[in-house]
Amino acid sequence: MIHQKNKDTHILIVDDDPSLREIMHEFVTMSGYRTSKADSAATALKLLGNNSIEIVITDITMPGMNGLELTDLIKKNYDAHVIVMTGFNYDHTYEEAVGKGASDFITKPVRFKELLLRIKRVLKERQMDRERNAMLMLLFGMMAELEKLAITDGLTDLYNSRHFYSRMELEVNRSCRYNNALSLILLDIDHFKKYNDTYGHVYGDKVLARIGQLIKQSLRSMDSAYRYGGEEFTILLPETVGDEAYAVADRLRKIISSEIFTPEPGKAVSITISAGVTQYHPGETLKEFVERADKALYQSKDNGRNAATFL
Ligand code: GH3
Ligand code: MG
Ligand code: MG
Repeated sequence: MIHQKNKDTHILIVDDDPSLREIMHEFVTMSGYRTSKADSAATALKLLGNNSIEIVITDITMPGMNGLELTDLIKKNYDAHVIVMTGFNYDHTYEEAVGKGASDFITKPVRFKELLLRIKRVLKERQMDRERNAMLMLLFGMMAELEKLAITDGLTDLYNSRHFYSRMELEVNRSCRYNNALSLILLDIDHFKKYNDTYGHVYGDKVLARIGQLIKQSLRSMDSAYRYGGEEFTILLPETVGDEAYAVADRLRKIISSEIFTPEPGKAVSITISAGVTQYHPGETLKEFVERADKALYQSKDNGRNAATFL
């Protein structure tokens, strides 16, 4: 709980009547608040622009801009609460003031004890608003974090396979609608079982994480990369024809093969990958699309690995 001391609370009094303005200013100051005064809405807006003011107490009937228009502007542009004051034979209703965003309403002649109670009530409302907003921000942050977690692979920080299928569906639909090319790359680490068996799973995981980084670094912003399975990765490349996707896959193959891994001190090991590349054929199913990329990948494996194949 944030308790705001009176002297930290800045209250602005707006009234065109000089005697009422002075006496209210004196009373509110004596009650321990930091107080400012303004003789018109224009002066009030100037003060609001240069100070952080928590509460504005404003007369409604004033020459120039009236107190309701002022309330409207304050609620749209500043983080202040407003209490409006009006005379006995006023034309303006409580509903009208609240409709503009006023937090409270007080009638003239102002009874100071009542004013003090209303100030305290509005400050409490203000604090509750703050706490509720802080809670909402926290919740939104947590929801965003959870959403991210749900689609991310923890080891590689790439997207996970569940997200791959939903995104692929979206990209295929987009590609059909706008008649844009869409390509897919499948990557699989070569002889990775042997690496794990030789150096241990923990060092295998390090390789996966590093390859995730290398893939991420070499993609354009509209491309997206996924950990598809244990040691398999996929990349979706919107607005990309097969030739271009093949070039991306082959560049990645070279980047990964020139990376040095050190699973044991003094031991320099390199890793290779095989890739399958294909472009979406309009009208085919997602399954057909993925299966062709998979077939291309297996041709790379059959041809001795450390290779990319386009089908
Ligand atoms: P190939 O060149 O034919 O792809 O041979 P490979 O050994 O890579 O393929 P295989 O499918 O026989 O074995 C895949 C291996 O990948 C099995 C397992 O040791 C390793 N692997 C799969 N998922 C993980 C993982 O999450 N962490 C680690 N460290 N290793 C994994
Ligand atoms: Mg595999
Ligand atoms: Mg493999």
